[in-house]
Amino acid sequence: MSSYRKGPRPLLYKYEEVKARALFMNNSRTVIVTGFDGNSVEGFVRSDSRKDRYHRTAVELERNRITGGTCTCESVSFYGEPCKHMLRLRNSAVHIGIVQ
Ligand SMILES: [Zn+2]
Repeated sequence: MSSYRKGPRPLLYKYEEVKARALFMNNSRTVIVTGFDGNSVEGFVRSDSRKDRYHRTAVELERNRITGGTCTCESVSFYGEPCKHMLRLRNSAVHIGIVQ
């Protein structure tokens, strides 16, 4: 059973608060990876609705499929599915090649 939970507060971060923790960042600065370990990835994903603010997001993967995760956005605990931030974090991690 998949589990998608609300991440810890604060819910939003400024770029200046997270950039120093970046291990990888895409060109558009929408996804920042701060850690990875086997099949888990954590980082920050930029909000679409709030300019220059980031959600704290983490995903657990199994063969690139999201099996669990947390995010500080509103929709993560509402739909019971991975939110768009989890999808973007996963896609970037796969693209970079830091997960299997
Ligand atoms: Zn989210």
